[in-house]
Amino acid sequence: MGRRSLSISFDLDGTLTTTSFADSVWLEGLPRLLAEKSGMSFESARQTCIEAYAGVGEDSLLWYRLPHWLGHFGLEGVDGNSFIEGFSSRVELFDDVLPVLEALREEGHDLILFSNAARPFLNVEVARCALEPYFAAVISVSDDWGLVKSDPRAFLKLKSLAGPDLVHVGDHPRFDCQVPRSLGIPAYLVSRDHRPRPEGALASLHEFLRLMRSASVPGPGRTNPQL
Ligand SMILES: [Mg+2]
Repeated sequence: MGRRSLSISFDLDGTLTTTSFADSVWLEGLPRLLAEKSGMSFESARQTCIEAYAGVGEDSLLWYRLPHWLGHFGLEGVDGNSFIEGFSSRVELFDDVLPVLEALREEGHDLILFSNAARPFLNVEVARCALEPYFAAVISVSDDWGLVKSDPRAFLKLKSLAGPDLVHVGDHPRFDCQVPRSLGIPAYLVSRDHRPRPEGALASLHEFLRLMRSASVPGPGRTNPQL
């Protein structure tokens, strides 16, 4: 009996790409602009940014939207898209990504990129890493759907598009694991650099591929017994 083909959705930042690009925009670029405008030191500006981001929180759409933050810091004159583009050399793909995506695709699975990142960030990362050909759909949850993955409606909508045999993989314990699992979607946590690694988390996408190839692929609505 052949293996079932699945729809497999992937988070982007921290899962396929390192956080170097996003960090360079939020923790270097924006603080530098704020420091230049306000005269405060880079370190104070960075702290100001971090506190402002934390005040909004990652469950809010505003967290992901650069125009909001440019307005918040009085930097409306900055062209957000070219600003983001200026950091594109910082986009880095983890080494295991392309071989694993290629293998999964060859094995008949439909792959979906499912990220909270706003479109301008997502587009730069997808273009820089030439990821487009691997994916049947590329979804910016925040910009395309006006949702964040913490909102169950995001995964419910994904499931309605992808069908019942959906599996998700990502690096955020709540967004990429708890929320989809609470909706009966099997979800796998990838934790590449945490020491100690959370129990049941995968160290790489190679481990995810091995799981997908093993007999223990869970049916819809069940959580993986290995996790
Ligand atoms: Mg992530």
